[in-house]
Amino acid sequence: MPIPFDPSLVLIAGQWRAGASVQRLPLLNPSDGSLLAQIARGNADDVDAAVVAAQAALAGDWGRLSAAERGRILLKMSAITLDRADELARLEALDVGKPLKQGRADAVALARYLEFYGGAADKVHGETIPFANGYTALTLREPHGVTGHIVPWNYPMQIIGRSVGAALAMGNACVLKPAEEACLSALAFGHIAREAGLPAGALNIVPGLGEEAGAALSAHPGVAHLSFTGSVAVGRLIQAAAALNVIPVTLELGGKSPQIVFADADLDAALPFLVNAGIQNAGQTCSAASRILVERAVFDEVRRRMAERYGALRVGPALDDPDVGPLISARQRATVQAYLALARDSGLAIAGQAVLPDSLPAGGCYVAPTLLAPCDPGHRLAQEEIFGPVQVMIPFEGEAQALAIANGTAYGLVAGVWTRDGGRQFRMARQLRCGQVFINNYGAGGGIELPFGGVKHSGHGREKGFEALYGFSSLKTVAIKHD
Ligand code: NAP
Ligand code: MG
Repeated sequence: MPIPFDPSLVLIAGQWRAGASVQRLPLLNPSDGSLLAQIARGNADDVDAAVVAAQAALAGDWGRLSAAERGRILLKMSAITLDRADELARLEALDVGKPLKQGRADAVALARYLEFYGGAADKVHGETIPFANGYTALTLREPHGVTGHIVPWNYPMQIIGRSVGAALAMGNACVLKPAEEACLSALAFGHIAREAGLPAGALNIVPGLGEEAGAALSAHPGVAHLSFTGSVAVGRLIQAAAALNVIPVTLELGGKSPQIVFADADLDAALPFLVNAGIQNAGQTCSAASRILVERAVFDEVRRRMAERYGALRVGPALDDPDVGPLISARQRATVQAYLALARDSGLAIAGQAVLPDSLPAGGCYVAPTLLAPCDPGHRLAQEEIFGPVQVMIPFEGEAQALAIANGTAYGLVAGVWTRDGGRQFRMARQLRCGQVFINNYGAGGGIELPFGGVKHSGHGREKGFEALYGFSSLKTVAIKHD
């Protein structure tokens, strides 16, 4: 499929134009290693022009719109996104190696974010505060100004939806830096925004390297808020850059999320979630359930049934819509293979594994989905984010031990609990140290209305739902003295 726009351009002030540098970056197809396109290598000059354009939009056509008018534009963007869901899924398959059904689900989620935030734009308001006699006191929710959005390669559409969608709803003007390895859906989003009539400069897109375009955006003194999703190492750099400019920052840094299966659980209901939440998007999911904690009485049964599912997983090129596609890059594959080598060297047993078909293209970044069991909770494979289709199983005995293991990593993003015991459901929900707990499900089907974010090294700040709208606005208090 030809790319239906010129992917080598940046979007600044409503114009698709060449970047400041003549240099380009190659965009590879991870399913077969072929060259898809050349993208702009955006630099500090492009970022500066984008921030200036965003400031002009705030002072001009974009800043003048009412909340309801902003909402209507987002709703138009939502409708166009939904119309193009198949095209967006194909672009994501080519660029990210995401199986078609999963890419389509991302496009539908992007449309839903735009619908939710479009509908909410004129429903977020301040309050009047009962204060001293002779005063009227009230609060106003105002945009921060220019917001910077640094997005990773694993779920570009969903992450753009939840951060750019919410920021635009509140009247901010955005500068978006997609990941250098996954730009096509972000650029397609820029075209959708222009078609929907989003005023020039309200959304600017500067592809490029993290350490060039990304670093320039996070350090720019004209940026008033930063939203980042990615690794802990880069998250620290973003927070340090935000500290120098004294601006708020939202960090979503991944996890080592557990699903906890008690012996009284409905195993038939749990099984599909246990495996899918580990292998979806080839395990490159911040909220992947990479640790499966199972009460000892049912450990063998769960291991056997998960292993059966692993054996049946289809791995292949993204356009064939397999269960599991390639990883994003040869670099990411090497990282995952190094973890699998460590597992082998430390004697971790492979309980289940998918078979890689001989027909896989030689240049593709494939790794066989692998279930390791049992694993010691302190082992590096049970502590570190692997970001590949690898799950470890850890046996436990009773609630207290389950909690100690579940809370015993540096991360705290999501947890799932499978049990029929009502009291235990509440006890676990309260004592798990993370940002979201799912009982007898995992992920609630994406639940874009549900606030999302982490504690500990998983980051801070909340995206999704109404919380994101509060995060992308600044509260001003007004006290009027009138006796
Ligand atoms: P990353 O390096 O943290 O990249 C995330 C985003 O930050 C990308 O847009 C990247 O741009 C940009 N970036 C990189 N260096 C930067 C800098 N110095 N200043 C500003 N922005 C910068 O993540 P990655 O390399 O793609 O993946 C590495 C690991 O991060 C993964 O193995 C995984 O553990 C974790 N990760 C987590 C999530 C999540 O959802 N929480 C998502 C992706 C990755 P470029 O890509 O263009 O360099
Ligand atoms: Mg790519």
